[in-house]
Amino acid sequence: MIKKVFDSYDILLSEYQCNQLNRYYELLVEWNEKINLTAITDYEEVIWKHFLDSALLLKCSVFQQTKRNRILDLGTGAGFPGLVLAILCPECEFYLVDSLKKRIDFLSIVCEELQIENVQLFHGRAEECGRRKDFRNQFDFVISRAVAQLPVLMEYCVPFVKKDGYFVSYKGKKYNDEIKLSENACQKLNIQLEKVEEFRIEDKEERYLLFFKNLSMTDEKYPRKSGKPKKNPL
Ligand code: SAH
Repeated sequence: MIKKVFDSYDILLSEYQCNQLNRYYELLVEWNEKINLTAITDYEEVIWKHFLDSALLLKCSVFQQTKRNRILDLGTGAGFPGLVLAILCPECEFYLVDSLKKRIDFLSIVCEELQIENVQLFHGRAEECGRRKDFRNQFDFVISRAVAQLPVLMEYCVPFVKKDGYFVSYKGKKYNDEIKLSENACQKLNIQLEKVEEFRIEDKEERYLLFFKNLSMTDEKYPRKSGKPKKNPL
């Protein structure tokens, strides 16, 4: 099933990767009984809405054409999109950040079980991690799905992005409204919308990946203190 779905998007999976994703599904459903990880548990639905959706970054020309050694997923939750991409791109180093310890603990179990070696897990808030010297303006791509509205998300994510690297946001069909709201944030953080990639999941849901290029090192003012970006968005 997984292979067929991914094949239909021309994303090639080895048997090993297929087995890893299947085992990931089993662990997700098993641990979801104890800790809240996902509302979606049906096998086919997880494949489409979590696994395939996460993998869409691989189809994007900006991603294919840019150096991509270090990638950070902000607010990864149960590992979407970051852990799926780590399975699919063993040559890249992934950093998965989430403020909920239980979710990071779950990811640690999955990484151990699946023998994933290109992932580092961090429990913490964007507003704090983004100030760490070893994280600041260090990543080729910072990706995020379903974490916050664009102006908030930009302040969370952009401080991690290298100069000339990209912040990539997975959004739904109302992405244009959010772009309109983020003019000020783009200016303050000095990023520019470079490309929007459009997809359809299972011939139904629309999915957009927005690529913002980081034009400089981030102003030291950002991110502001924990809670501030959400309470008072740029
Ligand atoms: N990206 C996943 C999870 C989305 S839920 C997916 O698409 O399925 C949003 C996640 O973001 C939660 O796990 C929450 O703990 C995390 N989060 C929210 N605000 C955050 C912040 N300021 N810093 C770090 N993680 C945050």
